[in-house]
Amino acid sequence: MITMNEHYLELQASYLFSEVARKVAAFQEQNPDTSIIKLGIGDVTRPLPPSIVERFKEAVGEMGDAATFRGYGPEQGYPFLREAIAKYDFGARNTGISPDEIFISDGTKCDIANFQELFSTDVQVAIGDPVYPVYLDTNVMAGRAGAYRDGRYGKVRYLASTAENNYIPAPPNEPVDLVYLCFPNNPTGATATHEQLRAWVEYARRERALILFDAAYEAFIRDPAIPHSIFEIDGAEEVAVEFRSFSKTAGFTGTRCAYTIVPKAVRVYSRAGEPHELHALWNRRQSTKFNGVAYPIQRAAEARYSEQGRREVEELIAYYLENADIVRSEIDRMGYACTGGDNSPYIWVRTGGSAWEFFDQILTRAGVVVTPGLGFGPSGEGHVRISAFNDREKVIEAMERIRSAL
Ligand code: PLP
Repeated sequence: MITMNEHYLELQASYLFSEVARKVAAFQEQNPDTSIIKLGIGDVTRPLPPSIVERFKEAVGEMGDAATFRGYGPEQGYPFLREAIAKYDFGARNTGISPDEIFISDGTKCDIANFQELFSTDVQVAIGDPVYPVYLDTNVMAGRAGAYRDGRYGKVRYLASTAENNYIPAPPNEPVDLVYLCFPNNPTGATATHEQLRAWVEYARRERALILFDAAYEAFIRDPAIPHSIFEIDGAEEVAVEFRSFSKTAGFTGTRCAYTIVPKAVRVYSRAGEPHELHALWNRRQSTKFNGVAYPIQRAAEARYSEQGRREVEELIAYYLENADIVRSEIDRMGYACTGGDNSPYIWVRTGGSAWEFFDQILTRAGVVVTPGLGFGPSGEGHVRISAFNDREKVIEAMERIRSAL
C-alpha cells in the first residue's frame, strides 16, 4: 500500500482566498456592468523591458543553431549571470559575495520551499505573522509545524508584526533555529533598518541559528539608509542565506528566474555538533535535484544588468512605486494609518475594525478588491493589503472610487 505524507493533511485550505473569489464572483453576478478593479494581486502587469526581450530572442536563436546550441548547463547557473549578479547587486555594497556563492534558479518560491529540506525535522522554526505563506506551508509539509489550533500551529514560533512594533519583530527571548525574515515585507511593506537586522544577526550568531532572508522586493528600496541585503550587516555571511528574484524587478513572474546566495562561511551542525558547510549541502541538493534554468532565460536575466537593462528596470520599478505613492497618499488623506508603499509595492492599511468588513465595504460600494490581512496570519486581522502592481489608470480610478465610497 502506498501511504501518503500525512503532514499534507495538516495544511489549512486557503479559506480566505476562496472566500475572496466567491464574494467577488457574487458581486459581479449582481452587478454585471461594474468593472471590478483588483488591487489584491501580487503579480506584475507591465511587459518585459525591450532590451531583455531582445536578448531573450537572440539566445533562443543561438539554441537553434548547431554552432551555438547548448544542452544541459551548470546546475548552479551560467558564470555570465552569476558574475553579473555579484558585480551589480553585491559589488557596489561591499558585501564580499562571490559568483560561486550565487545559485541561479527558476524562482524564489521554489528555492525557499526547497531550502528547508536541508534541516532536521525537529528544528524550531520562527516565521513572521502575518507572513508570505510559503515559509509556513513548506514546514507543515515537512512535519515541523505540529497540531493546528485556533489559527496557529503548535510547534511554530510566530513573530507578531503589528503596529506596536512598527511591523518589525525583534528576536525572541527563547532560542529558535531557523528564522524566516522578509524585507521589504510581503504583506506589510515594512522595511528593516541596519540596527534591526543587526539584532537578528547577533541573535543568530549567539544561538547558532540560520536566517533565511527573503529580499524579493529589495529593488523597491529608495531610501539610501535602508539596507538592501542582510549581507550589509557584519557577520551575516556566517548565519544567513538570501533569496532574490527577477520576478518583481524585471517582470519575470511568468519567465521564471531567481537566485539564492549561500555564503561559504555559513555552518550547520550534525547532532553531534560537528560543523558542516551549508554551501556544500545546497550545492549537492541542487546538483542532484535540479538541472538549471534555460539558457535563453539566463541570458534574458543577464540583460537586466546591461546599461539599457538597468535603466529600463529602474523605470519599471518607478512606475509601480508611483502607483504605490498614489495609493498611499489617498489612504493617508482618508485618515487611515498604513505602512509600506514608499520602499515597497505593498501598502498595509489599518482598517480600524474587521478586515472582512472593510473588504466588503469597498467591494460592494467601490467595486475594488483588496486582500484581507487575515489571509497572511492571525495578526493580519484589522488590516488589508493593497498592491501597487496594476496599470496606472486602474490604480487612479480604484482610489477615486474608494474615496467616494468611504
Ligand atoms: N517571496 C515573496 C515575499 C513573494 O511575495 C514572492 C511572490 O509573490 C516570492 C518570494 C516568489 O518569487 P518568485 O516569483 O521568484 O518565485
